[in-house]
Amino acid sequence: MTLTPLVLASGNAGKLREFHQLLAPLDLDVRPQADFWVADVEETGLTFVENALIKAREASRVSGLAALADDSGLEVDALKGAPGIFSARYAGEPKSDERNNARLLNDLIDVPEGSRSGRYWCVLVYLRHTDDPVPLIVQRSWEGEILAHPRGDGGFGYDPVFWLPDQARSAAELSAQEKNHFSHRGRALRALVEALAEQPGGS
Ligand code: IMP
Repeated sequence: MTLTPLVLASGNAGKLREFHQLLAPLDLDVRPQADFWVADVEETGLTFVENALIKAREASRVSGLAALADDSGLEVDALKGAPGIFSARYAGEPKSDERNNARLLNDLIDVPEGSRSGRYWCVLVYLRHTDDPVPLIVQRSWEGEILAHPRGDGGFGYDPVFWLPDQARSAAELSAQEKNHFSHRGRALRALVEALAEQPGGS
């Protein structure tokens, strides 16, 4: 498989750190979108997949390269799927993980243990070029429960309140390697890399 250089369409420091770790063992030439001065684009879609496409298309347009975008978020059943596509800005602007977590815990204050299920979603979109009519799309989820109080200081975003019953730890209490192994993003990226290898004509 011969891969052309690729731009990573994200400005989120937590995601970039995880992508860096996940992509390190692979023989890929991946460049952050900041290298090309790609600005954050308005995410006007109603779904993760639409927003990932918007971000990938913009990064590809500005850089002239193939692009990989991640749109992700947390879906909480007791909140009818919120914060969902609004996860990054759940507590408004400017974006703040701390305020997002505080709002989430407050929204769930009357929801008892056992009814606090949710999952992270990660949608990855790979575009060979801006007008690619056949984007490669992969989506994976990661099941958990929302804690009543934050625990741990690893990861980013909602990780301190995202409880993993099987691990008996929050996502913020996992090592970076453990999180990448189990997470929505880690599994989506591994599936995408497999799908890329099977693309007609490589990438
Ligand atoms: P996006 O950059 O518009 O896709 O927003 C993603 C948001 O979803 C982040 O800002 C986090 O709030 C949340 N999120 C996505 N993935 C994770 C994760 O792995 N851990 C914690 N929060 C996440």
